[in-house]
Order: sequence, then structure tokens, then C-alpha cells
Amino acid sequence: MAKVALVTGGTRGIGRAITERLANDGFKVAANYAGNEEAAGLCSQELGVACYKWDVGDYDACAAGIAQISKLGPVDVLVNNAGITRDATLHRMTRQQWDEVIRTDLTAVFNLCRLTIEGMRERNFGRVINISSINGQKGQVGQVNYSAAKAGLIGFTKALAQEGAKKGVTVNVICPGYIDTEMVQAVPEKVLEGIVATIPVGRLGKAEEIAGCVSFLAGPDSAFMTGATLTANGGQYITG
Ligand code: NDP
Repeated sequence: MAKVALVTGGTRGIGRAITERLANDGFKVAANYAGNEEAAGLCSQELGVACYKWDVGDYDACAAGIAQISKLGPVDVLVNNAGITRDATLHRMTRQQWDEVIRTDLTAVFNLCRLTIEGMRERNFGRVINISSINGQKGQVGQVNYSAAKAGLIGFTKALAQEGAKKGVTVNVICPGYIDTEMVQAVPEKVLEGIVATIPVGRLGKAEEIAGCVSFLAGPDSAFMTGATLTANGGQYITG
């Protein structure tokens, strides 16, 4: 029987590429989204994947969403990909900008892991794949909220990996560098040119390249890998 994969923010950008890749890998994929109906419509039409709207920052909405997709089967693979930015230097950052990013980029991962982990443990199988960021590893001006949330995901991953290891649940985190999606296209052109100049491979990454990392972590070849941080950033920030 095909395993079920839930991809949050799975209808656009990196998430859509992950949805497509996992569907091609043979998973039954449920793609979650926040409110962009056009992208969700195209995703379900073009990929033949079921799309579900809920706010991943809202615990009760996550519970209702998981209940809805249970008709596909229990969640075996959870890809926590949904994320937002609300950039400002700290001396200008509002509490709202802080709260929104922590809620969507970090608390959401607690919500969805908490709601699926017991089932994974009972079935002795699970794959949790968290999408962090290069800016969670190295920090970034204008992003104390985002860098804190994304760094939080790395610690979360390392702790949950230890809890799940004996139960067949692997937990890993991917740190993409700058990937050519709407999130990055929103960066002013001059700033983006400056960023690309610091990437040794000389270009932005492709969503499909992150989807390939997810495919590996969701598949059998990574069964011995847990608590790992997979860096995919074109050499922009090289860590040990
Ligand atoms: P996009 O902005 O292109 O897409 C974001 C996706 O997340 C959309 O599907 C959006 O839904 C969904 N989403 C946002 N908020 C919520 C919410 N509250 N509940 C449910 N879904 C939500 O982002 P990217 O594809 O660029 O980024 C994907 C992930 O990769 C993020 O976690 C991001 O931080 C991370 N990342 C991205 C990098 C990049 O260079 N692009 C670099 C490093 C990390 P909807 O379409 O309905 O709005």
C-alpha cells in the first residue's frame, strides 16, 4: 500500500516541487496550503493531488486537517515546509512580525509533529522532514524572527530524532540556501544580485533540488540517517 505524505505549504514554490516529487515516488500526497486558491487549484489539477486548506499555526485547525486527510490513510511522511518571512531589523520589528513568524515557522512544526507522532510510533514507522534555512544556520540581518524560528527547527529535529529512533521514526532537517521561488523573488533586485554574488555555484537553487533531498529523506536509502542537517545552498555557507 502506498504510504501517505503530508506536505505543508505543498501547493506553491519548494512545497509544490516536493509534492510533485513525492507523488512521482509513489506516495499518496496531501498538500496543505494557507489561502492561495489559484495555486492550490493548479496543483490539484496538474498533479492530481488532494489539497487541503488550513493554517498550520493553529493547533485545532491542524487536528481537523489531519482528520480530513485520514481518509487517505495515516500520515507516514510529514514534510514541514510551510513558512513565511516578516522581515525588519530588530529595532523596527513589531511584536506582530515576531509572533507571526514564530507561529507559522516553528509552532506549526510542534502542532503537526504532536498530532502525528503517536501514530508513527505505534506503527513503528515515520519520516519527519523539516525545512529550515541557511539563515537559521548563519543568521541574517533583518530576520531575527525567521533566523530564530529556523534555528529552532534544527534543535527540535535533533531532540525528536532521539525520541523516535527506537520506534522507526527518523527526523531530519534540510537547510536550503536561496531558492528561486516567490519568497526570494520578493527580495529587491539589487539585494538579490548581491546575494547571488555570494553563492559559489553562481546561481539560485531550484525548488526541484530541494525536492530531491526530501525524496531521499522520505525513502529507504536514508533509513540510518536521523537527527541530520542536510545543507543545500550552492556552497554559500559551508558547515561541518
Ligand atoms: P513560498 O512563499 O513560495 O510558499 C509558501 C507556502 O507555504 C505556500 O504554499 C503557502 O500557502 C504556505 N503557507 C504559508 N503560511 C501558511 C500557513 N499559516 N498555513 C499553511 N500554509 C502556509 O515559500 P518557499 O517555497 O520559498 O519556501 C518554502 C519553505 O522553504 C519555507 O519554510 C521557507 O522558509 C523555506 N526556505 C525557502 C528558501 C527560499 O529561498 N525560497 C530558502 C530557505 C528556506 P499559500 O500558497 O496558500 O499562501
